[in-house]
Amino acid sequence: MFIDGQWLRCDKTFNVTNPATGELIDQVADGDASHATRAIEAAQSAFDSWSRTTAHQRSAILYRAWQLMLEQKEELAALMTCEQGKPLKAANNEVQYAADFLLWFAEEAKRTYGETIPSARSDQRFIVQHQAVGVVAAITPWNYPISMLTRKLAPALAAGCTVVLKPAEATPLCAIAVFKILQEAGLPKGVANLVTTSEPAPIGKVFCENPLVRKLTFTGSTAVGKMLSRDAAMQLKRVSMELGGHAPFIAFEDADPVHAAKGASLVKFLNTGQACICPNRIFVHKNILPVFLETLTARIEKMRVGNGATDGVAIGPLVDEAALQKVDKQVNDARDKGATVLCGGQRLVQGELDRGYFYAPTVLSNVDSSMLIYKQETFGPVAPVITFDDSDDIIAMANDTHYGLAAYVYTKDISRAFRAVEQLQFGIIGVNDINPTSAAAPFGGMKESGLGREGAREGLMEYMETKLAGFSV
Ligand code: NAD
Repeated sequence: MFIDGQWLRCDKTFNVTNPATGELIDQVADGDASHATRAIEAAQSAFDSWSRTTAHQRSAILYRAWQLMLEQKEELAALMTCEQGKPLKAANNEVQYAADFLLWFAEEAKRTYGETIPSARSDQRFIVQHQAVGVVAAITPWNYPISMLTRKLAPALAAGCTVVLKPAEATPLCAIAVFKILQEAGLPKGVANLVTTSEPAPIGKVFCENPLVRKLTFTGSTAVGKMLSRDAAMQLKRVSMELGGHAPFIAFEDADPVHAAKGASLVKFLNTGQACICPNRIFVHKNILPVFLETLTARIEKMRVGNGATDGVAIGPLVDEAALQKVDKQVNDARDKGATVLCGGQRLVQGELDRGYFYAPTVLSNVDSSMLIYKQETFGPVAPVITFDDSDDIIAMANDTHYGLAAYVYTKDISRAFRAVEQLQFGIIGVNDINPTSAAAPFGGMKESGLGREGAREGLMEYMETKLAGFSV
């Protein structure tokens, strides 16, 4: 753990294992509520001086952290593959994405402009300023174990906030690596603190109940996000919630079915399907269905499954046994209710695969709304394809979920694309595009996919209060 500028060891530790091999990688300090409290107090002590540094000073530290992260890109990617399982190429891409946030907010720190507002009174002047919220408590998931940290740390630090971060129990080593970079970049003591733990609930409770914490930022499941939002509401803490998704992917009858199927194969199997923006319901118009399915299945069958550290592997393991069982349950339920398994459909145990949590990349056709997979977030390598006939109904079908994070539309008709973007109740929409994300673009969900946005200018404002001063002159 890293508290008040010191690396701490603990008598109590927990194991970190490689999900591809089951091997022990390391043991990490198992923090408890008392460590969270100490870290919050350290962050509070550091807040006064840190929030009064100039935006240029804060920017310089973030800029240095960006440089260090890029210098260590290969080591960080190798660590991520070992700890989280994603293939090395994907891990490299994630480190780049994580570094992008450091650079973006190093630049954006200097642009927290206020404004003047004309008053109805001739003797009055209004000035609006933005100021750091205060101590921020952050909780991050395992699926993107470096970029989800910098997406919170970089804007919080740029704004002048101090932070206590609790990473997911499956990926504390990536978090430790990020904090070493911040330390090396010259961040003063107490400004960013890390509490690792195998038991998140007591730490979450301290984050919600300690009055020194002014803002809670969380990325993870909708169930935990709701619970934390409820508890944080008792002190009306500011909250940002990046939660689950159930993205629709719509290929209209005028779409290029080959292009759409290639897009679906890339975004659905991203991170072994363990991304909040992965499509969960792939709606394909019946006129283009045969070519779409043929292209999708051919591409998926070619994907090599294995240890992400091995050259040519496209699909790594799932994070743990529970994740694998959830995927298998959804596939069996769909099969029992009439879906056709075009490829995959089972756990992989051949050779060394039996040591990890590997599931065959799967394509299901004839999926319908009676199946679990139609409603539940899958978080695994399964592409469920639903055939549609009536394009007028499809937006309502896509919106028929309590989630609202990402959606994808494939069409060559610009008017249809515009209508879809306006009518889809999702925060991020890709039009003939499978990667509508960037440090420069606001990321976040509607409905039960969350509150607030990360990245972009909005991501910085999440860590700032708006203060109005009215002057009588
Ligand atoms: P999770 O909610 O189980 O865990 C996320 C984090 O919350 C972890 O750090 C975990 O330790 C912590 N946590 C769990 N229970 C807690 C409690 N009682 N109190 C405090 N903290 C607690 O989610 P997960 O399975 O690790 O992550 C996958 C989920 O995250 C998916 O639903 C995915 O869609 C979502 N996600 C969303 C985004 C986004 O930007 N919207 C990005 C990545 C992942």
